[in-house]
Amino acid sequence: MSAADAASAAFDAARVRADFPLLARRVHDKPLIYFDSANTAQKPAVVIEAVDRYYRQFNANVARAVHQLGSEATSAYEGARDRLARFVNASSRDEIVLTSGTTQAINLVAWSFALPRLGPGDEILVTTMEHHANIVPWQLVCERTGARLKVAPIDARGELVVADFVAALTPSVKLAAVTHVSNVLGTINPIAELARAARRRGIPLLVDGSQGAPHLPVDVRALGCDFYALTGHKLFGPTGTGALWARKEILAAMPPMFGGGEMIREVRFTGTTFADPPHRFEAGTPNIAGFVGLAAALDYLEALGAARVQAHEAALLDHLSRALRGVPGLHICGEAAHKVALVSFLVEGAHAHDLATLLDHEGVAVRSGHHCAHPLMQHLGVPATLRASLAFYNTHEEIEQFVAALVRVRRLLA
Ligand code: PMP
Repeated sequence: MSAADAASAAFDAARVRADFPLLARRVHDKPLIYFDSANTAQKPAVVIEAVDRYYRQFNANVARAVHQLGSEATSAYEGARDRLARFVNASSRDEIVLTSGTTQAINLVAWSFALPRLGPGDEILVTTMEHHANIVPWQLVCERTGARLKVAPIDARGELVVADFVAALTPSVKLAAVTHVSNVLGTINPIAELARAARRRGIPLLVDGSQGAPHLPVDVRALGCDFYALTGHKLFGPTGTGALWARKEILAAMPPMFGGGEMIREVRFTGTTFADPPHRFEAGTPNIAGFVGLAAALDYLEALGAARVQAHEAALLDHLSRALRGVPGLHICGEAAHKVALVSFLVEGAHAHDLATLLDHEGVAVRSGHHCAHPLMQHLGVPATLRASLAFYNTHEEIEQFVAALVRVRRLLA
């Protein structure tokens, strides 16, 4: 037994599963096997209860009311900012902008940071493995500024070609944007190395942390990037929550994107002055309940222990990859040396959607499709893949049952 297997065996998945009410349900009269956590993760009871408690006991708007409820809601909401600052190891809570998710966080950087700085001849560097959320906002900025998108390649194993990425960091590149972890291939990108190269050339680096934050320790200071975007619903928190971490001096130089309540210092018909970051970027009433839930999710994760979770997930990935390699005619997309517990694959003679539908009838939830990564699908030369994405609440037994179900349903399509 390897050290990782031993740690995985020590991880009490049954006890952890009991924290997630939804995992106990049946689907099509079969026990649910939820292998779609990269899409959205299930929520522990402590998160659901925190949201419930907020609405039952201290629902009020934030930063406005002087009454007791208003002050309790404000301190819970601002407490979530502190919690996120600690989660990513920010130097200051003021470096955390609360957003509706990664998509809004990246769009904020696109509109407020990139748009005013870019012009014809400038470039934004991305990679082949990006999610649409880390492509389309940059394309919109390029359309308005005359800048161009430049794409760093990946190799046959689904790893970023680091030398090509570094070579692409030419003086015309004004921003680089890279995913921490590919939502299709599972590849973990060497962010610290990329950030060092970008920094040496004075090019800001944005990291799409949607798939990284749920699996890897995030230390923005150690990573050395300039922006880190994450999404709460993949972090076992409520939907409609997320954050942008950015260096203080960068946020201070960014104009607001949305105008409205909460983001101002003083408003006159002759002109308005704006609040300091991060509130400058948080116009209107936020998802208070969601952030109360997200803070509870981060507390829960911390209590589980990152090292134990990582060891368990590594053993699950190893088991899943080995089991899938044993299925004749199955091809895994993405064999990077460093991966999270996520495997995309194709099965000869069977369409991904048909397999996913049949698997659903076996109680197995996997995603099929393009995974919001059209350019990567074009690179792979396929319209869709099946993706099994795991979390720490999954078990080795589920992997066995999933692979057995896959082999069964595949026979139906033969
Ligand atoms: N980037 C990646 C890599 C993702 O996997 C996702 C979610 N599928 C997003 C961005 C977008 O996240 P959200 O929809 O929560 O904003």
